[in-house]
Amino acid sequence: MRKHLLLGLLLSFTLGGPAAFADVPAPGAGVSFSLIKTGHVHSPAGLVYSGGSFFQKLEINHVAVLVQHPRGSFLFDSGLGREVAAQYQQDVPWWAKPSFRYEQPVTPARDQLDRAGITVPRIILSHSHWDHASGLVDFPEAQVWITSEERDWDRQHPGFPGAFPSQIDPPSIQWHTYALENKPYFGFPRSLDLFGDGSAVLVPLFGHTPGAVGLLLTLASGKQYLFCGDTVWSAQALKESRPKSFLASLIADNDREATQHAIEQLHQLMQEHTGLVVVPAHDAALQDTLGYFPQWVR
Ligand SMILES: [Zn+2]
Repeated sequence: MRKHLLLGLLLSFTLGGPAAFADVPAPGAGVSFSLIKTGHVHSPAGLVYSGGSFFQKLEINHVAVLVQHPRGSFLFDSGLGREVAAQYQQDVPWWAKPSFRYEQPVTPARDQLDRAGITVPRIILSHSHWDHASGLVDFPEAQVWITSEERDWDRQHPGFPGAFPSQIDPPSIQWHTYALENKPYFGFPRSLDLFGDGSAVLVPLFGHTPGAVGLLLTLASGKQYLFCGDTVWSAQALKESRPKSFLASLIADNDREATQHAIEQLHQLMQEHTGLVVVPAHDAALQDTLGYFPQWVR
């Protein structure tokens, strides 16, 4: 209970001749992404990361990342969905509501995609926290990918502050559990190459939640983006290898030690790959520089 009260304070390269090459896209060819902003809130920097100022407010975004690939599009996370108000009402305890909140407007990914005539057959969750899973129920035709570690945890520990029953229990959701393969990639011990061409690869970032993953995209330009979920909430934290504020980490990070390990791993990667852009799920300042749907990063 004490912990809950504290939480209230937060918120192919196919081998072949030239003819074969003509038909097979190079890694990253035709891959692009667009950030779908579904909502936001403001929070003191001092809560967002250790050492941040309590006098500076940061904008915290809630986004779904739309990825387009010649062999299929998918969303990485779903952001705040059409049903977020009812989900919030049902699964956030009364005592947490004043501080555990989101601001208006909410612009669900489904609404934005419908207006653009875009359908997505697959959603991949970075992890199942409420602000990442809220929109799942809006996509009953999509397969929802989640690591078996994350799914098991959610089943064993349902409810606030973890995954919300109102968001993950609806029978309309088509769950697909998967396991990362024992294939080292980019310094990570395991990975899952979604299309077999190295353009979109899932990597383990366990810690914040037991089965959290990051998504590493390599675009046609050669530019690389690593979407790191909630391992950190701001890029500044990553630059300085800082955890969330003590209180925030205590409550939000399932395994604080593993989360810090993941932060240091990402920090190291950024040192080794200076062109790599690591995108925390909630860092509005960084995301502003990438633009929002229907703007694309190619
Ligand atoms: Zn989270």
